[in-house]
Amino acid sequence: MQYPEPVAKLIDSYMHLPGIGKKTATRLAFYTIDMNKDDVLNFAEALTDTKEKLKFCSICGNITENDPCDICADPNRDQSKILVVEQPKDVATMEKMKDYKGLYHVLHGVLSPMEGKGPDDINISSLIQRLQKNEAIQEVIVATNATPEGDATAMYLARLLKPAGIKVTRLARGLSVGSDIEYADEMTLFKAVEGRTEM
Ligand SMILES: [Zn+2]
Repeated sequence: MQYPEPVAKLIDSYMHLPGIGKKTATRLAFYTIDMNKDDVLNFAEALTDTKEKLKFCSICGNITENDPCDICADPNRDQSKILVVEQPKDVATMEKMKDYKGLYHVLHGVLSPMEGKGPDDINISSLIQRLQKNEAIQEVIVATNATPEGDATAMYLARLLKPAGIKVTRLARGLSVGSDIEYADEMTLFKAVEGRTEM
């Protein structure tokens, strides 16, 4: 059937979300129509704020309202360690654990020859610049996911950074192969960081 244009547009928007097909999108659209106006306006504002108020930290690449982000700007963090993750959500996961006090670097992806993603397509050059500028950094902990692409990215970083005298470590395999760190519980993450091994 033909929906009025605002409804059709809303269904189409929901279908842009991962894992949402036409049927679910239609159900969500009609649910939204039944919501009260304030809730809908708050929802719309939350969506636009993600684009208007959030930016990427110019140092670590994490999402932030302030640049540099709160972690990079905090002098009480351990300035000798950088933990490298694939996505901003991984920083949030690691921070939940509360035991890691060092800094972060967000790659925004992994090396993936299959998808044509090389070193220039992810946030590696800014990591090199950070290491060159900041002599306090002694260790880079690679916390990419335990996938073939995550492992290949870790190997690449180790080969790139070790000749410069930087210690490169990889999270211990408490995380099962192929798993994302976002699904690991805090104890598993803690053990993975504690048991990290030099590459
Ligand atoms: Zn930052």
